[in-house]
Amino acid sequence: MTFVLSWASNVLIEGWNSAAILPQMLVNCGLGRHSSIVHIAGSATENTWQVQVTHFIWSNPSLRLHSDFLPVVCQVCRSYQSFVKSKQTGDSGGPITFICHGKVNGTLCKAMLKFSRPPTLVPMAQPPVDNWLVEDIEF
Ligand SMILES: [Zn+2]
Repeated sequence: MTFVLSWASNVLIEGWNSAAILPQMLVNCGLGRHSSIVHIAGSATENTWQVQVTHFIWSNPSLRLHSDFLPVVCQVCRSYQSFVKSKQTGDSGGPITFICHGKVNGTLCKAMLKFSRPPTLVPMAQPPVDNWLVEDIEF
């Protein structure tokens, strides 16, 4: 709700450009942590209409991995919440690897999941933060 009020105040009342103010608003609110944000902006020239669609995705190295979610159940051993982040996981922009610590017939499962950032998603540049990814959608 605070996001909607903030957007209304900034865009409708104060007149800020929605596309320009949205990234800063996303950093300051928790809305996108539960849902992606799709921003649609249009502009008219003499006889054409251009629409720009931008997809904002919250990312977290433990909860939402480069726009993907960690499965709750291992598909190999059916263990519940058995994935542990590998210590060999690289920096914030690199792939994130999880290894299952569940057991199959008494032996360690060791199923591995690797999450890499899709090439169309880039970290939000302004303000520069790692936990928001941006994708321009063309149609
Ligand atoms: Zn497993």
